[in-house]
Amino acid sequence: MLNSSQQHRSFIIRTKWLLPVSSRPLENAWLRVERGLVTGFGTWPPRSQNGLRVIDQDNTIITTGFINAHTHLEFSSCQEPFNTAGGLHEWIRDVVAWKRQQSTSFVDSARNNAAIVSGIHESAACGVVALGEIATTNTFYNKIPNRPRLRVFREFLGFDSPASHAGLSREATCLGDAQRLSRAGIAVGLSPHAPYSTQWNVGKTVANASRKSLRRRGLRRGKNRTLTPLAMHLAESQFEAEFLTTQTGHFRTLFEDLGVWPDKTPNLATTADWISLLATSDRGLIIHGTHLHNDQVALSQLQLHRQKLIAVVCPRTTLALSGKLPPISEFKKSGIRICLGTDGRGSNPDLSIRAEAACLIESGLVTPQEALSMISVNGAWALGFEHRTGCIATGRPADFVILKPSVSPNTADQATMTIFDSMTKVVATFRGGRPIAGDFL
Ligand SMILES: [Zn+2]
Repeated sequence: MLNSSQQHRSFIIRTKWLLPVSSRPLENAWLRVERGLVTGFGTWPPRSQNGLRVIDQDNTIITTGFINAHTHLEFSSCQEPFNTAGGLHEWIRDVVAWKRQQSTSFVDSARNNAAIVSGIHESAACGVVALGEIATTNTFYNKIPNRPRLRVFREFLGFDSPASHAGLSREATCLGDAQRLSRAGIAVGLSPHAPYSTQWNVGKTVANASRKSLRRRGLRRGKNRTLTPLAMHLAESQFEAEFLTTQTGHFRTLFEDLGVWPDKTPNLATTADWISLLATSDRGLIIHGTHLHNDQVALSQLQLHRQKLIAVVCPRTTLALSGKLPPISEFKKSGIRICLGTDGRGSNPDLSIRAEAACLIESGLVTPQEALSMISVNGAWALGFEHRTGCIATGRPADFVILKPSVSPNTADQATMTIFDSMTKVVATFRGGRPIAGDFL
């Protein structure tokens, strides 16, 4: 067995099924890893073993590590989700009450950090090698060892911009957080929260910061520009469009009850406006989009900008909060990419990205092959990691997962389907040839 202290991250691993995603599935296969990179794979036996140790994982399936493109890990300490029965606006009441209980004291900050660490470990144990995380505070992601790759989106929201501390506006404080994370080596993104909670001028500031960041880094590095993607929850509630137009209804009542409705009428924008703003960045993540198919103007914007946008759907959260599944067929028709997220444990019982995919497969909305693409190559594209992870290919970091099925599959299609079987167990998750969860730690 390997262990976490293995220095060279070099070995050959043998498996019953290898599903690289970058190429066709292989039965009775080998995968060679040298210094953390994939240097070859094929049908057993390899021509030469180069003196490398062979690890026999017969009766397993090896495939690329999974990508969970949308989480809120601060909720990872929740033993069960907040009540979703009343829909999004009622769920937000519980979330805000919970968050207001969390003070800024050192103890609660430590509790928040512990929740994030717990969520990261749970994700790795689910086979995840990269996470898109929404951050509401400047936390310590860079200090967490043995973790999946992270794209941390700093969240922005609010109807006004009062000076928070040290004379800085809320936006400036959030941008400062993002810059600190970036300097600490974390890939960052920016996230205007949602159209019902974020003023249009805040969104424009955030989009502008994303574009400036692209230019500045591009000049400094003198090579491929570093992305600063934008992510936003859109069309999440059936009452959202009404509120954006008339500023009345459940959301108005909610914000008045919470004491955050401003004296001056906030400047809110439509879903279509936000989609076109997200597309001014090189990459925009549209999270949920549950009711987007009812908005023809928004749909046409989606289609127009499909090369720069991706829909990130969280099926179990959407089902719990809206009583329906995401509009996958409409997204497919628009030509937009689709990937998956678990959302956080505030709305979902766990962080299993395979369970999200299984939910769509069981409903007949996607095939197992489509689901695998959504939680691999598409998710990697959403996070700007498409050159690092999302498939098993020679020359790439060895990001993969070893799965143990309850019944050994006989065909490639069965093997793909078996990935999403709840009886299939994650044996281990590897990032860059190093185990980050499972039996090899
Ligand atoms: Zn979310």
